[in-house]
Amino acid sequence: MNEKKQIDNILLVMPEIPSWKVGARELVRAFFPNAAIQFNKDTDDNKDILILKVSIQSDKLVMTAKQFGNKIQQKSYDDIKRPIVSKKFKGFFYRFLSELTKRSLPWGCLTGIKPVKMAQEILDANNNDWAQSKQSFQRAFDVSKEKTDLAFNIAKVEAPFIHVKERNKVSVYIGIPICPAKCTYCSFVSTIADKKGKLCSEYMNILINEINRFSLFIQEHKLIIDTLYIGGGTPSVLTAEQIQRLLETLTEKFNLSNLREFTFEAGRPETTTLEKLETLHHYHVNRICLNPQSMNDSTLQAVGRLHSADDICEKFAMIKKVGFESVNMDLIVGLNDETPEMFFSSLEQVIALHPENLTVHSLAIKKGARLREQKGCGLHQLYSKEFYDEISQRLESSGYHPYYLYRQKYAQGNGENIGYCLDGKEGIYNMLMMAEKQTIIGIGAGATGKVYHPENNRFDKVYTVKDLRTYNQRAEEVIDNKLMAYFKYFNA
Ligand code: SF4
Repeated sequence: MNEKKQIDNILLVMPEIPSWKVGARELVRAFFPNAAIQFNKDTDDNKDILILKVSIQSDKLVMTAKQFGNKIQQKSYDDIKRPIVSKKFKGFFYRFLSELTKRSLPWGCLTGIKPVKMAQEILDANNNDWAQSKQSFQRAFDVSKEKTDLAFNIAKVEAPFIHVKERNKVSVYIGIPICPAKCTYCSFVSTIADKKGKLCSEYMNILINEINRFSLFIQEHKLIIDTLYIGGGTPSVLTAEQIQRLLETLTEKFNLSNLREFTFEAGRPETTTLEKLETLHHYHVNRICLNPQSMNDSTLQAVGRLHSADDICEKFAMIKKVGFESVNMDLIVGLNDETPEMFFSSLEQVIALHPENLTVHSLAIKKGARLREQKGCGLHQLYSKEFYDEISQRLESSGYHPYYLYRQKYAQGNGENIGYCLDGKEGIYNMLMMAEKQTIIGIGAGATGKVYHPENNRFDKVYTVKDLRTYNQRAEEVIDNKLMAYFKYFNA
């Protein structure tokens, strides 16, 4: 393979098996992040394109790579057991690509977004035999030792928090998918607040109605609320009065005496005021999210944030003065093609504030993000392994340890998002979300819920409409459908 030349176009010629095609696309994207991928098209072999062909020939799986019309690699995997499940196929295809590119990926052929959950499941299957579980994880997916250790260390931290025995213990997520302005990298379906506040007040009325309906359901089914999370969007875009009304309703209608955690996302500092924070504190919110994303003003401006780094410091001091137990702060690697030095400058400034939780995201430019129209899903700034290692070293030497992790499609450098925390300050809802071992009741637009079936360790999603205007127009029908899904689950 011509290693010096960047691969811009890749054609995959393979059987029409949907799960194989998904797996193949994910792996090709991980090895060749900037290449356009096509499937099963006619093409001229001599064109400047890398052709990867997969075929099943009697009891063999054959993989071939051609570039500029020349066969550059062929592998055949013999005595394949049928049927070839997608997980097995991915393993073979990963090894083929790894030999072709002479590179291995830190997460091997594991392209799913929840590797820690996978580690937990392997541990459960092996009766918590750590050595054996790690070995099977590493072997099954070709994951590096370093990532295996990371996934298993996080699984260990999470274990005491996520195994909730009672089926009637649930978490509640309340969605406020409204923002003051759109960040260029955002693909989340959030609506921009209008100046007169009409959208927020209309949404609040409908949301309160949904909370009332769910409160009856929760009481009737004797559900215990374990954690409560008000997320967005930007929930702090609501006025102090609206926040007060929301929290008063929750306190009045729900029994919050068993809460292990109550989080409110006040992600953008320009929306946060002392009055709002005092209201949140009065109603026993104990965890606040304040997200700088970067502490470089030029980056903040370039990505459509309406605040400066100084605003973050000012609001952080205000949050601490009001007296919240825990603050989470997010940073994103790769925003505006920041250099490593720029990222470390942000990291040091945030560490100096000493928040209880610090989450480091890898920029992922997904469909729907404005940035994707501007530059596709590829990025110009590439970061080395040493750069990522230094992030964790700096955090760990400042008293932080990783407590939750997830991966995203299109993530910069095929990296992951890692939540770090000070000792004893784990963000519980985050861990529950990733572990998927508890039922989550989602209330509001875009609030996808989950019902967990412990008998077979399976969960089903409870979908809802994402778009706020559709939710506002069809609220009764949307709420009926959601309640029906939870009703079926709790009455099964
Ligand atoms: S604040 Fe969050 S949800 Fe809102 S536009 Fe920015 S990234 Fe998206």
